[in-house]
Amino acid sequence: MKTNFTQWFLHSSNESKNMYRTLMDRAVALITEQTTSTTHPFSGASHHEIEETVKEMLTIPSAGQKIEDVMEEIQNGIVRNSLWVSHPSAMAHLHCPPVLPSLAAEVIINALNQSMDSWDQSPSATYIEADLINFLTKQIGYLDHADGVFTSGGTQSNYMGLLLARNKACQTYFSINVHKEGLPVEASKLRILCSEHAHFSVQQSAAQLGLGMDAVVKVEVDDKQRLCLSDAKEKIERLREQGLLPFMVVATAGTTDFGSLDCIREIAKLTNEEQLWLHVDAAYGGALLFSHQYRYLVSDLCLADSITIDFHKLYYQSISCGAFFVKDRKDFQQIAYHADYLNSEEDQADGIINLVEKSVQTTKRFDALKLLMTFKLMGTDLLGELIDYTVNLARETALLLKEELSFKVLNDPEINVVLFRYLPLDHREDQAYVDEINLGIQRACYQSGELIMAKTKQNGNVYLKFTMLNPVNSISNMQVHIKRMKKAAEKIEKERGEIRYEYSIHH
Ligand SMILES: *Cc1c(COP(=O)(O)O)cnc(C)c1O
Repeated sequence: MKTNFTQWFLHSSNESKNMYRTLMDRAVALITEQTTSTTHPFSGASHHEIEETVKEMLTIPSAGQKIEDVMEEIQNGIVRNSLWVSHPSAMAHLHCPPVLPSLAAEVIINALNQSMDSWDQSPSATYIEADLINFLTKQIGYLDHADGVFTSGGTQSNYMGLLLARNKACQTYFSINVHKEGLPVEASKLRILCSEHAHFSVQQSAAQLGLGMDAVVKVEVDDKQRLCLSDAKEKIERLREQGLLPFMVVATAGTTDFGSLDCIREIAKLTNEEQLWLHVDAAYGGALLFSHQYRYLVSDLCLADSITIDFHKLYYQSISCGAFFVKDRKDFQQIAYHADYLNSEEDQADGIINLVEKSVQTTKRFDALKLLMTFKLMGTDLLGELIDYTVNLARETALLLKEELSFKVLNDPEINVVLFRYLPLDHREDQAYVDEINLGIQRACYQSGELIMAKTKQNGNVYLKFTMLNPVNSISNMQVHIKRMKKAAEKIEKERGEIRYEYSIHH
């Protein structure tokens, strides 16, 4: 059998280098072609159409196909029907347009294919991650004994926060090493407090950690959608009266729905007095550390025992990129495992660091390089300016919407989220009707491919949401979208009116 496989691997041969360049060039061409051909953030294709197109693509050949053919299929079947997150009118979720340094870093990350679990698999990358974590702990305001680790994102970071806090609580209250012995029966008494707007991964983590979702006690929010301190105090007291053991508060700096920031200083005072672990989920708001105008909103992050920060949100990194931080590195010992083949005791004696000791992953991506290249090429000043611009744009957009009689804005944006709903001039009180019109607006805009926004529910009512992360977006673009939404709403109302009219004739 004579097969030429060397061209498919990175290798010193010319055919390998040629193939690498060809594939890379084609991949880049596919993307640059898309930047010019997409006027909209989405093609508007229906889920049926997309499902069918993809199905057609999925005939898996036994012999490799021509590069041109495969690339064309990928362009037509995938790229063309992808959500173009770099378009300024894509503003549904906390889903950022990635900066180019991050994309270039991915090329290097992928080719080097370093795994961050043990030093021998990532000799320099290990130190890049460790030193970048060190730099970030300084930005947070943590002292020398702080530490952290890159994660796949906010969900994993929050999970780690709950994991360390749970293990420590079991040691403190029950003198049990959970990592070794498993959960004692009394663990069913453990309780975690967070606000109603905390991310669902808090409950999910509690479930996965054997505490159950019911171990998470939801604290009310105040009129600014922040965790209400007096309610937290009352709930802690009540739990203790019932013989339960509150051990942790999860505060949020930048809630997913409102962008609101819990008051960390006050909460930290409470958790100190009550001897509770404070985890701050700053998956979203953590980027404000580099803001020029709004850094003060996160100046108390350093009071937390542990912190979640996502870089694939307001730090403009491609997915996935996040980190988990602890105030005291000793807390990582709660989860350390010594595998003889990865992080042996001898390594430790030699002063070699193996990041697996701090991670819930084994094989792990070198995502730190993306953030490093972004900081190096763009500088932290520019990053801060981009963040400020987008926050200010969201605030200006909220003002524009407030000037409109037919819109109601639910929040005064602290960061980039604007929550609002269309209120038809007639039938404003008919909530079911208003909900239906708002769902209709969101769907019509998605189907036209012109404006991608999110829908959510607050107090049982449908609201629309802009998450405005893209610094390429502008207030004039937002003016166009407000007109577009009004037009869509009027069209839906007219159609509804005609249906009603016909109904009244025929009945
Ligand atoms: C996005 C988000 C998460 C989840 O993070 P992933 O990176 O999606 O896993 C958790 N908390 C908050 C506040 C978030 O905004």
